[in-house]
Amino acid sequence: MADLGKPQNTIAVLQKYNFSFQKKYGQNFLVDPRVLEKIIHAAQVGQEDFVLEVGPGIGTMTQYLCEHAREVVAVEIDRKLIPILEDTLSPYQNVEVLNQDILKVDIGRLIKERNQGKPIKVVANLPYYITTPIIMGLFESRAPVESITVMVQKEVAERMQAGPGTKDYGALSLAVQYYAKPEVVANVPPNCFIPRPKVGSAVVRLTRRKDKGIQAEDEKLMFCIIRASFNQRRKTLVNGLNNAPGLAFGKGQVIEALETMGLSPNIRGEALSLGQFAILSNLLGQNRQ
Ligand code: SAM
Repeated sequence: MADLGKPQNTIAVLQKYNFSFQKKYGQNFLVDPRVLEKIIHAAQVGQEDFVLEVGPGIGTMTQYLCEHAREVVAVEIDRKLIPILEDTLSPYQNVEVLNQDILKVDIGRLIKERNQGKPIKVVANLPYYITTPIIMGLFESRAPVESITVMVQKEVAERMQAGPGTKDYGALSLAVQYYAKPEVVANVPPNCFIPRPKVGSAVVRLTRRKDKGIQAEDEKLMFCIIRASFNQRRKTLVNGLNNAPGLAFGKGQVIEALETMGLSPNIRGEALSLGQFAILSNLLGQNRQ
């Protein structure tokens, strides 16, 4: 099978199957062998690896993964792509395509059944409309995922890496950094895809933290506090947490916790680091019991 990373080969497959792109599935197929090699290299895919690919499309990156990994499972929602994948991936014996919605796949179970519960790598050119639920789903499942190397919208990659006090800093930065170390490994312009997306893209590698790093006693509470703080970005933290549905901490309670931490009662959520959010949620959580 010809290298689908080359635009002319992708076009030939699309024509052969008279394929029409489905906007609702975020279908932008990568056509640049150098970017594909870069992704494989950044993900450090080797002969011992089991790789989960989200959204193989016509199998472009899947070909590269099959060449480098021990085993690949690729989950594709669009059933019209399944016969195409059967064709483009026919030379490879180390791949299985599942026609499913990745958000409905039990990742922990898949890893247990296919890789004896041992850590896997996730590599994907993600459908941008569900980037956050896919990544958060992988982290929150607590399944053994060693790293996630993915193409995302450039702005999203910047938000994942952002620190306190910057305009990109928000709930996504904190959630990603709680679980992993994010690194942008490549910027990818729209002309590397068919069809061209309206936005710039970037490849980001999220390496799962091995140590526990920052630990909140009640993760759920900490992420509720984080979301509430950034939902009302221009409000002080005290007012934000006081107004948040489902939390309703009294102003006095929040001020007391901030004082214990040596922080001003007028501080905004965007000024707090991940460590400070963890301490704040531990203090507020204790008072709630
Ligand atoms: N991997 C291919 C490539 O690099 O050329 C295609 C990437 S394209 C950006 C995203 C792919 O994800 C499409 O094939 C799309 O049909 C698939 N997809 C969209 N939503 C999905 C979902 N919920 N579960 C699984 N696959 C999905």
